[in-house]
Amino acid sequence: MRIGIVGAGICGLSAARHLHRDGHAVCVFEKSQGLGGRVATRRDSGFIWDTGATSIAPRGKAIEHVLLHEISTAELIKVEKPIYVHSGLRVSQGHTGGADRYTYLRGNTTFAKLLAEDLDVRLNTQVDTIEKLGKGFRILGEEFDAVILTAPIPQTSLLLWGMGESRPVANVKYRPCLSVLLGFKAELPPVNYHALLDPDQVHPMTWLCHESVKSPGRAPDGCSAMGAQLSAAYSLSHYDMADEKVIQNVVGFVERLYGSAFDSPIAASVKRWKYSQPENYASFEHVNQPGARLLVASDALLGGHVEDAFEVGTRTAKMLVEDV
Ligand SMILES: Cc1cc2nc3c(=O)[nH]c(=O)nc-3n(C[C@H](O)[C@H](O)[C@H](O)COP(=O)(O)OP(=O)(O)OC[C@H]3O[C@@H](n4cnc5c(N)ncnc54)[C@H](O)[C@@H]3O)c2cc1C
Repeated sequence: MRIGIVGAGICGLSAARHLHRDGHAVCVFEKSQGLGGRVATRRDSGFIWDTGATSIAPRGKAIEHVLLHEISTAELIKVEKPIYVHSGLRVSQGHTGGADRYTYLRGNTTFAKLLAEDLDVRLNTQVDTIEKLGKGFRILGEEFDAVILTAPIPQTSLLLWGMGESRPVANVKYRPCLSVLLGFKAELPPVNYHALLDPDQVHPMTWLCHESVKSPGRAPDGCSAMGAQLSAAYSLSHYDMADEKVIQNVVGFVERLYGSAFDSPIAASVKRWKYSQPENYASFEHVNQPGARLLVASDALLGGHVEDAFEVGTRTAKMLVEDV
């Protein structure tokens, strides 16, 4: 079969990898200039931040074998320090679960790059319309026997509607998220955790990851890198605020948390995610019927994490080939 896949996030790459290894001709269309989608890495002035998913927790799913045994582990780092909780003013140990977590030395997009080895991925190639043919589909002038759509559900829905198709995905809503990336010219006092979570989702800073504790090589000598993720409510109400103001606010949150003034960051930026993680889900079985040649795959059909996106991608690919 010749299969077209829209989106080179983890779900699309997982499906493409499975199909390619099964002997099918696969072409992945990706609108952005890089691989990984919401697994994204930013590099600036010697700092490295993961701006989307900050770590990968396989939790016994299909991703585990691939991550640990099938692709290169040369740059794979097991995150040693746990996640603690914070309330904005106080840090405590909390109960955030003990799943093994992994990251990559030069950022989590390495995972996407490793998955994409040997695949035909067309970067900077946005799919706006898919044409239905008698027995297949046409995307950007190329014909395919089957198509898998892996963009976040609102974007996939636009493509479906353009073909006169729909799927039961109306419940799926995503949280917006502002990710704020900070690089300081100072080392942090030693901490026993790599990240802090506000489990009550009350404080605007839901998540603070010490990138340079999570992995070596994330900041130049004598410096430290942090990535903050802001709550859905805060992100929505401050979505269009100027970067400098957002950065200033986050530096203020960090200072209050640690009770000391930080010098201004020497590197800082804001990444705006309109669709970060799903708040609710649709069911894979309702969305994809056996025998279909137009399939929808997304983290929103399982659980909103990297391991879920990978699982859904592989499951969709299997469904497609098992039905042939
Ligand atoms: C801020 C943030 C923090 C997160 N933290 C974690 C975490 O710590 N741990 C964890 O496990 N998960 C985390 N996640 C969630 C995780 O990143 C996602 O669940 C997972 O990456 C989703 O993968 P996907 O392939 O389903 O979708 P995506 O990664 O969104 O991939 C879809 C791809 O489709 C492309 N695309 C869209 N429309 C088109 C089009 N028309 N034509 C061509 N290409 C198109 C997009 O550019 C994108 O590359 C986080 C996400 C965010 C944003």
